[in-house]
Amino acid sequence: MRPLDLYEKDASKKVTIYFEGKALEAYEGEKLPVALLANGIYWITTSLQGRKRGAFTFGPLPVVINGIKNIDGRKTLVKDGMRIERQNYGEFQEAVEIDGSKGVLREVVDVAIIGGGIAGIGATLELQEYLTVALIEERGWLGGLMSLRSTIQEGFDEEPKKVIEELTSQFNENVKVFKGTIALGVFDEGEYFLVPVVKKDQLIEIMAKRVVLATGAVENILLFENNEFPGVFRLDFALEVINKWGVAPGKRVAVVGRKPERIIPELEKWNIEYIVVPNPKRVEGEEKVERLIDTNGNVYEVDAVIVSDYRLPDINPITQAGGKLKFKWGYYVPVLDEQNRIREGIYVAGSAAGIKPHYANFLEGRLVGAYILREFGYEATPAVYKEKLEEYEPEPMPMQRIEFKDMNLEDVQICGCDVNLKKVDDVVKKGITDLQIVKRLTHLAMGFCQGRFCLFNGALLVSQRTGIDMGKIDLPVARPPLKNVRMKVTAVRE
Ligand code: ATP
Repeated sequence: MRPLDLYEKDASKKVTIYFEGKALEAYEGEKLPVALLANGIYWITTSLQGRKRGAFTFGPLPVVINGIKNIDGRKTLVKDGMRIERQNYGEFQEAVEIDGSKGVLREVVDVAIIGGGIAGIGATLELQEYLTVALIEERGWLGGLMSLRSTIQEGFDEEPKKVIEELTSQFNENVKVFKGTIALGVFDEGEYFLVPVVKKDQLIEIMAKRVVLATGAVENILLFENNEFPGVFRLDFALEVINKWGVAPGKRVAVVGRKPERIIPELEKWNIEYIVVPNPKRVEGEEKVERLIDTNGNVYEVDAVIVSDYRLPDINPITQAGGKLKFKWGYYVPVLDEQNRIREGIYVAGSAAGIKPHYANFLEGRLVGAYILREFGYEATPAVYKEKLEEYEPEPMPMQRIEFKDMNLEDVQICGCDVNLKKVDDVVKKGITDLQIVKRLTHLAMGFCQGRFCLFNGALLVSQRTGIDMGKIDLPVARPPLKNVRMKVTAVRE
């Protein structure tokens, strides 16, 4: 077994890959950064400012593969003989590539559901008896965050994997599932909504009478020094390497963040040694995490750090589709009407509407499905779901205080695109508090994540430096496409 494998892998799939010339054991179809991690390699790319980066925090992962530069390592599956070299960000532009010569496919359905997490699955199940559905999921699998967990979740009586399998096996012929497919936005087109999606390099235009945004939530980026150093894991990535790929994040792991209970059961299940450090100040090491220092000066020798904090609704799909935001429960949520709509025809379900347990998000998916059925004149009982949902008030998030004085702000990354806390703070201290202008001056929210991870901390900084209430801060609206697309697509559409 490789140093960080949690169990034996299928020997018939064993292959050899080369990283910086060194031969490594890997398994056909394994995700590239996971294969490297299993071999103890964390540092994979270097940011424009020369900061070492791994695959499991934020920012892009450009690598050279078989001599070809600028390949996103995070989306690459290993093949026998693959040669991988480190690369820095340089000219790298993460983009959804579309082959113009293939032409555009078109799909017409009653309802397009963006996001195949538990909320999207709930909505699909509710709708499928009477209406046609396109379920669009960026990842190669359904079930979202819940499918990455291995312990039984409140409200369900089996392991998440089983629950998802059972629910999705009930999909009927009215449901078309688009896995590995990115929705680029929602646009009005006469009586329909146009949802352009990309599957590999194929553009598909989905025309739908109604849209459900079940786009989920993102992990809050915790602010401490070197918070994107190789070996620091965002919670969803930690869950993915453990439960999807059977690889440990490290031999001895520090859990930081305000919600350690989100990861501890998984670490215990796999006997991964861990220590909880509630007050991280700085991560240090040569090529990967070697130690964590807390705000009291205690030093912990660890080889990985998992950030287990709160989640925040992904606000980009909401604002792009024309929704407004409000500040409630300590984060930004969409303003919804009585039927969970941001505007006529566009519904929101699941974590995208507020952070709550998976089961509540499932119920909310079903609720939204029931509202749509009723709108189309079919028999439905939204009131039943609504009543059950009332037991689950979204979870409030306490405000994180930014320790301006005690931190080296240059080492605290606020955004994966080389925007550190100092860069943003310097602008705000000059009296510029309009996030739209802060964005232009610092490039915050202008890069790869398009703000979904970094805008919140931008707003937090403005609020704490100026005393302006978070609810009064105007967040820039996400522009389409939700993911970068090469311009030749537009040319194809005329
Ligand atoms: P829970 O928060 O309880 O896990 P949920 O269904 O509300 O349930 P997620 O589990 O985060 O939320 O699932 C949301 C899914 O939406 C994710 O699997 C994510 O990949 C997908 N998604 C988000 N944006 C897009 C997009 N633009 N195109 C396709 N899929 C998307």
